[in-house]
Amino acid sequence: MTNFTWSYSSLKQYQNCPKQYQEIRVLKNYIIKESEAMIYGKEVHTALEEYVRDNKPLAKNYQRFKGMVDSLINIKGDKYVEYEMALRFDKTPCDFHDEDRWVRGIADLVIVNGDCAFIVDYKTGSKKYPDPKQLRLMSLMAFTHFPDIQKIKAGLLFVMHNAFVTEEYHRRDMDKSWGMFEQPLKRLENSYETDVWQPNPTPLCGWCSVDSCEFNPK
Ligand code: SF4
Repeated sequence: MTNFTWSYSSLKQYQNCPKQYQEIRVLKNYIIKESEAMIYGKEVHTALEEYVRDNKPLAKNYQRFKGMVDSLINIKGDKYVEYEMALRFDKTPCDFHDEDRWVRGIADLVIVNGDCAFIVDYKTGSKKYPDPKQLRLMSLMAFTHFPDIQKIKAGLLFVMHNAFVTEEYHRRDMDKSWGMFEQPLKRLENSYETDVWQPNPTPLCGWCSVDSCEFNPK
């Protein structure tokens, strides 16, 4: 077994371009370029986090999100904001910062009510190509961290569009869900073992911070 930690976003980065993954996460030669949209997204996440957790009033320019978030606050159950979860390679739960962590993720909001839970991920980008697979990984970690949960309703909340893309997961399907991550994880593990990281040029190369790559138009 190769010793690496992964998250949904790191696995996705690897799938998009193994070379970019290597340059940024393995060699640490570059950092991810932060676009204006990414900075805005972080600011909104912080504002919503503080509103839900601390009841800190939303700034005037974020008031438009209040109705959506209030409906989440009104859901019955224990609320966990920016909830950090991690698992070891044997899929047992551990602390987010433990040395032997294998996979980890942070859920924007988890609401646990008996054997049911809600997981919400705020999105500030376009709702055109929703990617609910990250909810599946988050649900796997939540099932493990909260052994009483049997059913999870999870959603990507596109706050700019007042749209909710929802999924439902059941504890009994956990093995099937893990199976969906097997192939890309095997490829990632293979790259670590062989130290082969193929470039995958796409039109997105123009936004890539790896300017030493032959496919980066700079
Ligand atoms: S420029 Fe393109 S091919 Fe090169 S590392 Fe970046 S994303 Fe990958």
